[in-house]
Amino acid sequence: MKIENSNNNKIEQTGIIGDEGMDLRNLAIDHIERAWVNIVGRVFRQTPVTKIEDLGELHHNVELHKAIWYASTEILPHLEVQVIVDARNEIFVSTGSAGYVDFNINPIRAGMKTPVKCWIHTHPFGSAYFSGTDIRTVRIWKPLMKTAYVLGGEDHFGFWFNDAPNELEIWNDGEVVRTQTWGTLGEEE
Ligand SMILES: [Zn+2]
Repeated sequence: MKIENSNNNKIEQTGIIGDEGMDLRNLAIDHIERAWVNIVGRVFRQTPVTKIEDLGELHHNVELHKAIWYASTEILPHLEVQVIVDARNEIFVSTGSAGYVDFNINPIRAGMKTPVKCWIHTHPFGSAYFSGTDIRTVRIWKPLMKTAYVLGGEDHFGFWFNDAPNELEIWNDGEVVRTQTWGTLGEEE
């Protein structure tokens, strides 16, 4: 998932790199982790332990998506942010560096438990679709990943799920405006 419009030069020019840049990245990660803890905590308090499997759908929570978008565009100067919700509802957040976020994290080394429930990443330049790299990512991960979102703005996102692995529903203001499809080789049709 390459950042098509890398902001790294801008960051260097405006001096938001080095220690201060790290602070912004940590702030962004912290913002998303807190949102997740709040969402999970709220549901946990209302959910009997025997119904914990109900937590499985929490990654669809709009508050989480808002927190991720805010971190990507308001806390960070339009840098791509990636979030993985693993099989145990643990959240893994990373922020764009060197022009792209690498999803090729070794799941075992990173402590992720598969299948990944959801992979969410932002297109901070404001257009929700799957790039060639994103398509390759879901093609590789589809046996171990259930759903994915690409966020392109408030109420603008693409939604993918592994039952229909060659398409992305693109939503705008509460309705599907386009379905992006691609062939099995990953080429967009
Ligand atoms: Zn992407």
